Amino acid sequence: MLETNNAFTKRILIALALGILLGLFLHIGRDQGDIVETYLVNGLLLILGKWLISLLMVLVVPLVFISLVKAMGSLIDTASLGKFSLWTVSLYLITTMLAISTGLMFAWAWSPGAGMELTASDVVSSTPPNLFQSFVELIPTNAFHALAQGNMLQVIVLALIVGIALSRLNRERPAAVLMQGLDELDRLMLKLVSLIMMFVPIGVFALMARSTATLGVELLLPLLGYVLVLISALLFHALVSYSLLIKQLTGLSMLTLMRELKPLWLFSFSTASSAASIPVTLATCDRLRISPQLSRFTIPLGATLNMDGTAIMQGVATVFIANAYGIALLPMDYLMIIVTATLASIGTAAVPGAGLVMLTLVLTQAGLPIEGIALILGVDRLLDMLRTSVNVTGDVVVSYIVAYKTDFLDSSRENAVENSRV
Ligand code: ASP
Repeated sequence: MLETNNAFTKRILIALALGILLGLFLHIGRDQGDIVETYLVNGLLLILGKWLISLLMVLVVPLVFISLVKAMGSLIDTASLGKFSLWTVSLYLITTMLAISTGLMFAWAWSPGAGMELTASDVVSSTPPNLFQSFVELIPTNAFHALAQGNMLQVIVLALIVGIALSRLNRERPAAVLMQGLDELDRLMLKLVSLIMMFVPIGVFALMARSTATLGVELLLPLLGYVLVLISALLFHALVSYSLLIKQLTGLSMLTLMRELKPLWLFSFSTASSAASIPVTLATCDRLRISPQLSRFTIPLGATLNMDGTAIMQGVATVFIANAYGIALLPMDYLMIIVTATLASIGTAAVPGAGLVMLTLVLTQAGLPIEGIALILGVDRLLDMLRTSVNVTGDVVVSYIVAYKTDFLDSSRENAVENSRV
């Protein structure tokens, strides 16, 4: 089933609005432990929401593996892989650092949390993330284990190796059957995605209804400073920084980009997971004419490593917690936060709530009390939805820039439309 971008957006939007309405209704009449709470909020809505996430997650590993092997297998000039991977990794790092700096600047200018005067019971010492170990584990020792565990970096490395071998094989003598098999498997994957997309409105409805019903709206008020500063920094990065970057480097206007990003934004907002959004992010890249050979590499990599929204949250939350406990941050502390938040956002799993867990790392590195996380826990779901949308936007923006710079923008529009299933 081929569905147009607009129809898909409209259906998610309606599901989202209806979900919020039901959620608000449930929130007002909420009574812990009653039947509605047990069977609807923590029953039916929970099941339907989790089903959507699971349906997408179960697809991600085979989808990424098959499409990346296929894309690499048909890459005639494997040297271009080196070129575009260098561009991609550099841009992912630069944009993440820019994101944290934006978050820190906004937080520094507005000082959210100042005057709360809390006292910390302990300040825990920290162990920095072991980057060396992550490099050691980049190459899997067991291919099936990597796939079964869904270790995205290892899956990408594995697919790259298999794909490069396939492309060399093709050069010696066309491996027609293998290529055709991969092609058909890829089509099967796309068909599965489009089938699952039919369930998206129901899943989105359930996710939104449950998030709204359980969101501590009353918790928002004392945290208004934190919430507003964070939302402003996220919007600034998404609408101003990306816009300038993409316009300067490729000439594409953010408005054109936004038109294509709409369904992805709604989708990542509802699921709060960059990993579950991969199929939709890939379809967005197809519509933007980014060659699958590039996007099948940059998007899974970005979903795993590039989390600008998460980095912004970690920057703002760190300053907020420091202010709340009356701890002054020195210029060196800000530098330390930029470095650790970059690493922490790289290490954050692309699933709901993971960014908050990794915040412990930034806090301990900055010598701040991790119990401060309890302050922002209640409002994190809403912010998670927003930061995930920024995370996936960053992946698309970088992919577009790299495609433009390395000649991986498909010139035939037909190909783009044919590939975009959502
Ligand atoms: N939910 C975010 C994502 O999947 C990660 C986070 O919690 O910040 O992109």
